[in-house]
Amino acid sequence: RVSAGRIVASSVEQSYIMIKPDGVQRGLVGEIISRFENKGFLLKGLKLFQCPKDLAQEHYKDLKDKPFFPKLIEYITSGPVVCMAWEGDGVVASARKLIGATNPLQAEPGTIRGDLAVQTGRNVVHGSDSPDNGKREVTLWFKEGELCQWESVQTPWLIE
Ligand code: UDP
Ligand code: MG
Repeated sequence: RVSAGRIVASSVEQSYIMIKPDGVQRGLVGEIISRFENKGFLLKGLKLFQCPKDLAQEHYKDLKDKPFFPKLIEYITSGPVVCMAWEGDGVVASARKLIGATNPLQAEPGTIRGDLAVQTGRNVVHGSDSPDNGKREVTLWFKEGELCQWESVQTPWLIE
C-alpha cells in the first residue's frame, strides 16, 4: 500500500512459513520457496537462522504438554531453518493447503508434505494455523527492520 508517496504499514494477512532443519539438510529450500513464490503471495521476510531452544519452545508453546514436545524442540533446533513471512489475502489457509496434512503419509500429492516427506516428525515445513497466529509468529521470529515493505511488479497481474 502506497499513500502520498510513502509506504505505510499494511494490515494484510501474513503467514509465518518455516522450512524445518530436514528441509534445509535435504536441499529442498528452493523447491519449497518456489511453491509460495509461484502461487503469487508476497514475500515480506526471509532468513536462514539457527533457532535457539527458548524460541522453539515459545513458538510451539501450545504443544508443551504433548509427549512429542521434547523431540520436537530437539528437531527444530537441530540445524538451520529458513524463516519466511508471506503476505496476501487468505495466505494463512492457502499456505496450509499448499503444505498439506501434518502426517506426510496422509498429505495429498501435490502438497509440499505430500510430495516431499514421509513422517510427521520430519515434515519439512511449518505454516501458521490462523491469521492471529500468523501475526504472532511473524513478530516472534522477525525483528524490527527484518521485514521489507515493497510492491511486486507482478501485483497488478495477480490482483485485479
Ligand atoms: N508433531 C510430531 N508428532 C505428532 C504431532 C506433531 O512430531 O504426533 C510435530 C510435527 O513436526 C508438526 C509439529 O509437531 O508439524 C506441530 O504440530 P501441529 O499439530 O501444530 O501440526 P502442523 O500445524 O505443523 O501441521
Ligand atoms: Mg501447527
